[in-house]
Amino acid sequence: MTADGTAAHGTAADGSGEERAAGANRQPEREGTCSPPLLTIGAFAKASRLSAKALRLYDELDLLRPAEVDPLTGYRRYTPDQLPKARLVVWLRRLGMPLARIREVTALDGRAAAEEVRAYWARVETETAARRDLAAFLVDQLARRGPEGPGTEGIGDTTMTTEHPDHTDDTDHTEHTHDTGTPRGPLSLRYAAATDAGLARPVNQDAAYAGSRILAVADGFGTAGAEASSAAVETLRGLDEVPITPGDVLNLLEDATVRAAEAVRGVAGGDESVGTTLTAMLWTGSQLGLVHIGDSRALLLRDGALSRITQDHTPVQTLLDEGRLTAQEAASHPQRSLLSRALTGGGPHHSPDLRLHEARPGDRYLLCSDGLYTVVPAEEIRTVLAGAASPDEAAAELVRLAREAGGPDNIGCAVADVHEE
Ligand code: MG
Repeated sequence: MTADGTAAHGTAADGSGEERAAGANRQPEREGTCSPPLLTIGAFAKASRLSAKALRLYDELDLLRPAEVDPLTGYRRYTPDQLPKARLVVWLRRLGMPLARIREVTALDGRAAAEEVRAYWARVETETAARRDLAAFLVDQLARRGPEGPGTEGIGDTTMTTEHPDHTDDTDHTEHTHDTGTPRGPLSLRYAAATDAGLARPVNQDAAYAGSRILAVADGFGTAGAEASSAAVETLRGLDEVPITPGDVLNLLEDATVRAAEAVRGVAGGDESVGTTLTAMLWTGSQLGLVHIGDSRALLLRDGALSRITQDHTPVQTLLDEGRLTAQEAASHPQRSLLSRALTGGGPHHSPDLRLHEARPGDRYLLCSDGLYTVVPAEEIRTVLAGAASPDEAAAELVRLAREAGGPDNIGCAVADVHEE
């Protein structure tokens, strides 16, 4: 069966009453024309390896229209010229491509269609990589669960990171899977947060918070953008007070994000143009749970290398993932700040990315809004993070650099160090 519930290998006898009534091999009489004989839906289904049921669905969806529909009986007939398109539909379905996108691809000429298929598959691979990491994490956690029940996850035992490949930072993005096997002392965070209006905006719509367990950065937009980002960060801040176990961390973050979305809708008063990004990390004592929606970023400095943990929810990032833009083109794209996902005052609900991240002593994390990373090059950010003596110093220096670079946008950042107590 294909994903739309239709059989991909239909036959002339697979339940098409239309087929039986029309007769499998009966060709319509077409006097006075040299056109090739039309195929009944059954014959066309057999030749294309699409079921008659699928052909009727594709007709209704305007994906593959029959050449002729009998006005009296409603019987569909197809020309042999339509077979290549039908066979392409079969192959695209086997690729898992949604019908709406197949309709777009089949309307293109060969080269453009090839580009669409390539871009679609690049996207699938990006998404599969994230799911693969989640699967690896679950396998690891379940394997650690002894016959006595859950809860063997302990300090130094977490073994998963889910770094996305980074397309813009010139850093090493090797996936780290780590199990030291050696005991170490309890871990905790040192942290700092800073925001600044920058030099061009009249209002600071960025909000940032750092506490013993939660780090959060939000970049508001619209007329009540400052209220939206503050409401989101305040909601996440509540997690600094609740008891946390490693198994709960993502559920807690997801629930808090739902409440944050409600808070944003509350301050927006139904205005869809109001909203905020939200990137936050929740510390369990050994792991960092990450929630992310929008184009603020989480970065990690580990062993001197800077890597990005989040992926921007922007149309430009999608184009980048699909290989349609280079990193350089994306950096100067006129619509680079347009968001495809955010917590908004109205409209559709967007799901955040949620993942767990292994923490190691010596890690330094940075959450920041686009007001920092679009004006301060990744290598400069890396240098500051690698050289600053404390999170406070790093946050202050990053704000200073963004202002020095013109400060065209608000700047928000939170920095945390993982250290052994
Ligand atoms: Mg911004």
